Amino acid sequence: MRRKVIAGNWKMNNDLSGSISLISAIKNGLSEKGTDNLVIIAPPYTSLETACALIKDTEIKLSAQNMHFEESGAFTGEISAGMLKSAGCEYVILGHSERRTIFSETDEIINKKLKKALSSELLPIFCIGETLEERESGKTNSIVERQISSGLDGISESDFNKIIIAYEPVWAIGTGKTATPDQAQEVHKFIRNLIEKIYSKNSAEKCIILYGGSVKPDNSAELLSQNDIDGALVGGACLKSYSFLEIIYSV
Ligand code: PEP
Repeated sequence: MRRKVIAGNWKMNNDLSGSISLISAIKNGLSEKGTDNLVIIAPPYTSLETACALIKDTEIKLSAQNMHFEESGAFTGEISAGMLKSAGCEYVILGHSERRTIFSETDEIINKKLKKALSSELLPIFCIGETLEERESGKTNSIVERQISSGLDGISESDFNKIIIAYEPVWAIGTGKTATPDQAQEVHKFIRNLIEKIYSKNSAEKCIILYGGSVKPDNSAELLSQNDIDGALVGGACLKSYSFLEIIYSV
């Protein structure tokens, strides 16, 4: 039985005081009932260290939203895996569609980042997903297959087992358009079959595959009840504690 995972990607939102308020509200909400789900938050870099101190002794885990694949050097504005570790991160989101489209990250760059995160003992949340144009021209499976096989190139099975995959159709991110539960389940099943082909049935069965794209309290229960959907990567709805908590408690 795979554990459900609810991860909140805050993107470029919340300064330090906003981060403190949001984390305090999430903590309060969780302390009332607790949860068996794994809850991950990904605040901006400037809030990571404070977030780490605030979530100490809670079930909440800390993620960064991105990192560079080099350890140090002349990469102005970038941040390394070691720096994220020292700020208290356990996870890092890699390959988010906003990184791929706005910041031109290629499958090769994402592959380097995945390898660097794994060798630095950071657990990657590896995002993939097709654009609307790709879906409408029937290319969803081939795009997802390319992103997965290039992203995982050269990654051993034991390292792969540390990765969480997030399927996020680009057309559903921040648009209010959600994939139907059937559409999402179909791609999640396809991804699990792909993992079986690349690694093994055992790894495919263990692999946590999140859905992301306009997940909200009113659609999360149905999406997350699908056989191959193991949780959600939430953007907009994680910025309010009540909606993030409702999603956590919808499964
Ligand atoms: C995301 O940024 O990963 C995301 C899924 O955003 P939203 O929930 O706002 O669509």
